[in-house]
This record gives sequence, structure tokens and C-alpha cells, in this order.
Amino acid sequence: MIVVMNPGASEEQLQHVVKMVEEMGLTSHIIRGTNRTVVAAVGDKRMVDKGAIENAPGVEKIVPILAPFKVASREVKPEPTIVEIGPAKTPIGGTSPIGVIAGPCSIEDRSQLLDLAEQIKASGAIALRGGAFKPRTSPYSFQGLAEEGLEYLAEARERTGLAVVTEVLTVTHVEMVAQYADVLQIGARNMQNFFLLRAVGEQPKPVLLKRGMSAGMDEFLLAAEYIISAGNKNVILCERGIRTFEEYVRNTLALTIIPAIKRVSHLPIIADPTHGTGHQWLVEPMSMAAVAAGADGLIIEVHPDPEHAMTDAAQQINPQAFTQLMQRTTRIAQAVDRSMAFLKTIS
Ligand code: PEP
Ligand code: MN
Repeated sequence: MIVVMNPGASEEQLQHVVKMVEEMGLTSHIIRGTNRTVVAAVGDKRMVDKGAIENAPGVEKIVPILAPFKVASREVKPEPTIVEIGPAKTPIGGTSPIGVIAGPCSIEDRSQLLDLAEQIKASGAIALRGGAFKPRTSPYSFQGLAEEGLEYLAEARERTGLAVVTEVLTVTHVEMVAQYADVLQIGARNMQNFFLLRAVGEQPKPVLLKRGMSAGMDEFLLAAEYIISAGNKNVILCERGIRTFEEYVRNTLALTIIPAIKRVSHLPIIADPTHGTGHQWLVEPMSMAAVAAGADGLIIEVHPDPEHAMTDAAQQINPQAFTQLMQRTTRIAQAVDRSMAFLKTIS
């Protein structure tokens, strides 16, 4: 339920409500909006004495939260969440400019990553992606450079000022990956790894949560709910395609979820047209479509020599194709009254 405070309620009255809610065995989340503050009280509602809370000083009313997800819902927080990433604190979400994250599927070697970082930055990306720990279908496929890859990412950030985004596969790696990365990616295969969701929720770096390949919207938002309710409000959702009967694509990029999520949740959502299609020739048109549909950003796999990439060779685009994609997507952004983000230089 949502406890709506009077516009003039004092901090003391707010803290009193929080205490009451917690004494009833619920978890409280204070959400300070532009007009008023609310307390989202989440937990077993059988424990609640609603009358007592309603009569507490400073309380205007109590409203039930109808959605299955609570702290991820717009009912609890009508204003969009804006997540700031990397050394430049580039904002993602709300009416912020559209931020593009680009880089190789896997980090393969130091010079590959450092050169590519310069190139994608010159084309307008605000963050560098690169897998150091790879979730591979076969145990015999390249598994990533592990911590060595994370070191290259940190070096690329040092040189370019780009934020760095990388996947964390397991709870035992969360602390290590968070030491290097600006954004921790939870991959599609781990969207319902609840222990991992809690673990990234208990650390402060923003989280990029990919939609599971067979997850519905409520399941996707409930996964985000795990992270937020564990203490981390900085969640960026990512549509990366779902499994359907269609065979000419690797996955079906389900762009309808972008406006649908915006209706029910305050969280930013970006699109991954690379994994969402599986073919390099589909990446540019689907990037444009995602921006037209209201995506707050894009994550794109870019490789200096896609044909010889160690992972996901069919879907990565080269730096030239990425430059063209950025130019065309910028025009679509303008058509839907958005702009593309640029990287602020830090002195
Ligand atoms: C990736 O981003 O390289 C990746 C493995 O993505 P997903 O989890 O969406 O398959
Ligand atoms: Mn990939």
C-alpha cells in the first residue's frame, strides 16, 4: 500500500509513519516526489492496522498498490527514475537524451578494446560495453577474459571518460565486477536468478537488467522489484528479444514492451537490437524503431572485425556501420522530440 503524506507533513511525521509500518513487519520505501512524499509499505498486508496509520499525524490517505510489482510501479512513484552512469554521470531515463552503449560482445584483447572505445566515443556513444564473463550455451565455447577483461575496461574508461558496462554472472563475482564497472549487467539467462538480483541490489552501482527470453512484462518488473527492494533504485531495464516461433531472427525484439513499461513503471528502458535480432543487417533499422517507440537508450554490439569475432559474429556491426547507425538514429530521435546524449568532458 501507499501511505500518502500531506503536502506540508514534517520529517518527524514521516519518520513516525515509517516506524509504524516497520513495526507492523512491512518494509518501507520513502519516495520524495515534486509535490508530496509517499511511503510505499510492502509486505504481508494481513499484518497491517490500516486505521492506525490513517490516523497518524501528517497522513492524507492510504491507497492500495494494484500492480504485482510495487516499488517498480508508477502507482508508487509517478515521476520517471533517472539513472546517472559513469564518471560523467550521464542521465538515462525521463526526458534525458537517449544514451547509446556500444562495444564488443566479448573483450578479446587490450588493443581491441582501447581502440574501439575511442571509435565509439567519436561516433557519440556514452558508454562502452564488453563481456569479461560470458554466459555461453556450450561449456567448450570462449568464456571470456575474466578479471583481465575488467582491467581493460577500467583502462578504457580512464582514457576516454566513457562509462563501462559489463555482465556479472554469479553472486560470488558481484564485489569484484562492481570494483571495475560503472553498470552491472544482469543477462537474460539470469533474469530470475533471485540471489543474484538481491546481491546486485545490495551494492550501489546501477544495474542493467535484461529481459529473460521467455519472461512476460510482470515477471520482468518483478525481477527489477528484487533489486530495488534490496536497496538499489538505479535499475535500467533492457528489452533484448524473446523466443518465438519465428526462425529467421535469433530472437524477436518485442518493442511493444517499451511504451507498455512506461505506462506502468517509472524505470528507464533501453533496447538491445543486437541480441534482439541476431543479424547485423537488422541492427540499424531496429535501433531506429526502438528510438521511435520511446527507448531511453540502446545497447549495440560493435566489433572492429565482426567476421572474426570470438562470440556473436553474425550480429556485431563494425565501427563504420555504427557511425551511420548513430547518424540515422539521431534523426529519428529528433522526430520524436528527443535528442541523443553526448559525453560531458570531465576536467
Ligand atoms: C550480452 O549482452 O552479450 C548477452 C549475453 O546478452 P543477453 O543476456 O541478452 O543474451
Ligand atoms: Mn553478445
